Amino acid sequence: MHPLFAQLPVSIFEHMSGLARAHEAVNLGQGFPDFGWPDDVVRRAAEALTGEASQYPPMRGKPELREAVAGHYAAQQGLTIESEQVIVTSGATEALAASLMALIAPGDEVLLFQPLYDAYRPLVLRAGGVPRLAGLKPPGWRIDAGLIAGAFSDRTQLVVFNNPHNPTARVFDAEELALLAEACVRHDVIALTDEVWEHVLFDGRKHIPLASLPGMAERTVKVGSAGKIFSLTGWKVGWAVAAPALAAAVANVHQFLTFTTAPNLQSAVAYGLGKSDEYYEAMRARFAEARDHLAAGLEAAGYAVLPAEGTYFLNVDLAASGIATGDVDFCERAVRECGVAAIPLSALYAEAPVTNVIRLCFAKKRETLDEGIARLAKARALMRA
Ligand code: PMP
Ligand code: GLN
Repeated sequence: MHPLFAQLPVSIFEHMSGLARAHEAVNLGQGFPDFGWPDDVVRRAAEALTGEASQYPPMRGKPELREAVAGHYAAQQGLTIESEQVIVTSGATEALAASLMALIAPGDEVLLFQPLYDAYRPLVLRAGGVPRLAGLKPPGWRIDAGLIAGAFSDRTQLVVFNNPHNPTARVFDAEELALLAEACVRHDVIALTDEVWEHVLFDGRKHIPLASLPGMAERTVKVGSAGKIFSLTGWKVGWAVAAPALAAAVANVHQFLTFTTAPNLQSAVAYGLGKSDEYYEAMRARFAEARDHLAAGLEAAGYAVLPAEGTYFLNVDLAASGIATGDVDFCERAVRECGVAAIPLSALYAEAPVTNVIRLCFAKKRETLDEGIARLAKARALMRA
């Protein structure tokens, strides 16, 4: 085995979901909803499975889906994209892997913001890249001029930028995006933007794609996922969108990584992307209500809850909740002794981890959340200093 992968632990999401199953715990760890997906999109997939071909679709994706993605971003985000710029992939994860393999050469520096989605660093390392880490600091997790000043070097080839951000639940604002875009242009860096959460943001916030900032369209690979747009995380239909030369590079890797993605699911996603604003508004309203319910329940139980601007997640500051136990120990005991699973944030750091914050998924039915709150209340009583 490649020594890098021999050393890697099982992903924290798989680890915690495994423990949740073993202990029959309420699983507020791994990010997946237990409600909220559109039945018509699932029905469309069922029809496509019985009524359409199940043979290889075109390598870059079914034309109807590529057109639907381009049309969706024009309507929702004001981007001008030709369908030729869209490469359909097996989830955002494949789009990220293909982009990193295509766009970095051994020794290139790749800027990553901590805490980071778990797949980024192993994929960068396996592609021969050298991760350069910039740390977002709680409780604000902001990008500021000082952070950007130290983040880039002459060897930086690419930055991976996730917005809205998992796990901090930040939606970076126009000022923060401008700082990053300006540095990308100045240092001639490619931005690989992981925007899988682009529709899951709350309290009237609007998603700003980094590609829409001056000088960015030609240097950005924008990654999206139907899994988050339609709350169907297991479907693994994603895409990369980029200027023609970058898109061609990504396609060259994609053709030898997975080649194609289930055609029937592509048809259903193409259909779903035609939904009007009402769908997105209703989806956001349901998840915002779930967020508020979990936050209120946790606060009543004595927890210090950090703001959640987007994603399915909210974070809790254990130290500020009167709990001295570190995040890993807290999560291991909570799932085994109290039957509730959470994600320790320190698992999403490569170095200098924050160890007093845990992440909880609120995209759950009220009864799931209520049971989770009761069990977390028990965990706090058990582990309070
Ligand atoms: N990036 C981020 C930031 C995510 O949170 C996730 C999944 N939750 C992914 C990528 C993976 O998306 P997919 O399941 O489409 O591969
Ligand atoms: N993205 C999901 C999360 O953050 C997990 C995906 C996975 O398990 N790889 O919880």
